[in-house]
Amino acid sequence: MFLFVPLSSPMFRLLKRNRIVLQSLKCYRCELVVRPKNFSTFNCQSNLPSVEKVAVLYSDQFQLHQPPNGTRHPECPGRVTTTMRHLESSPIFSSLQLLPFEDEPCDDTWLKKRILSIHSVGYLEDLERWINQGAKSLDADTYLCDKSLEVSRLAVRAWLKATQYSFEYSQPSFVLARPPGHHATPFTGMGFCIFSNLAIAAKYAMEELGVSRVSILDWDVHHGNGTASCFQRDERVRFVSLHQFPFYPMTGAPSERGPLGNLLNIAFEAGADGSEFVKRLEEEAIPFLSQHKPDIVFVSAGYDALKMDPLGGLCLVPDDYFEMTRIVMSSFGHERIVFGLEGGYHLEETAKAIEKTLHGILHRCI
Ligand SMILES: [Zn+2]
Repeated sequence: MFLFVPLSSPMFRLLKRNRIVLQSLKCYRCELVVRPKNFSTFNCQSNLPSVEKVAVLYSDQFQLHQPPNGTRHPECPGRVTTTMRHLESSPIFSSLQLLPFEDEPCDDTWLKKRILSIHSVGYLEDLERWINQGAKSLDADTYLCDKSLEVSRLAVRAWLKATQYSFEYSQPSFVLARPPGHHATPFTGMGFCIFSNLAIAAKYAMEELGVSRVSILDWDVHHGNGTASCFQRDERVRFVSLHQFPFYPMTGAPSERGPLGNLLNIAFEAGADGSEFVKRLEEEAIPFLSQHKPDIVFVSAGYDALKMDPLGGLCLVPDDYFEMTRIVMSSFGHERIVFGLEGGYHLEETAKAIEKTLHGILHRCI
């Protein structure tokens, strides 16, 4: 029996001390099998850089997109503030590198060009006009306030910065931004999403960083219909969405593969648990994405598949996100991987699951 345990982890050291439970270990970075008698001299042969710090992109300004007149809404500022408070009190905090981006100069013309690489001119003009006129919503689910455009643009900047960082340094990053983006199509925002943040970042990677192939994994409980619509005719991109089905937005049937066959929908009935989710991630999603040999990987990291989530109907627990992240991190032969927050509406459970994701990125379980 082989256990897949990071060599740097406390678990590895514990197992090493208690050899009685071991026959051998397999290093999941270089995949060499290590016998107990060789533990002390073993050196990982992987040329992957070790991940000492995870870059996290967060701004207090993400709180400024707020439901009108103090009304309650699941997509609330507390989603990111609760997570930041949780991380600040976690042992993992010293392993996070908060990447600055909000105070860096940003060319408005360039940012607009990046947004328009995905969204139509008509949608952007309508959005600006509606917000200037004091509109309170985009649709029945998606509220607007006077700061919504500013905060949405800042969220896009966070995703762009993370993409540049992960590409240049071959290191993973996590975008702790809101509003989310994976339901926004080229022509309209919807489902709490205003701009298709991840799609804009992926297009930036291909148009400005020289990336040839992109793989996108979406593990939010809802189908990533917006991202799918952005890339269904782009053979440079493969997209997998794991989601509850049928469920909002009612798209994402397994039969929907897109005109080029570059989309894969993995559907779960309500009540499915983490073991089923992780199994299909490993056996179906990852092979489809890794066969594409992506130069960079994006993860729409939603946390509304958690059992405690008030909107979703699946039954994952925070530990499942450690396992899912560990699988993602070991699957592509490089660590140019950008994770970013999508859904997740139980504040405390989402915070815990994000912490588990960050542990998974660091290859450590604590
Ligand atoms: Zn969702």
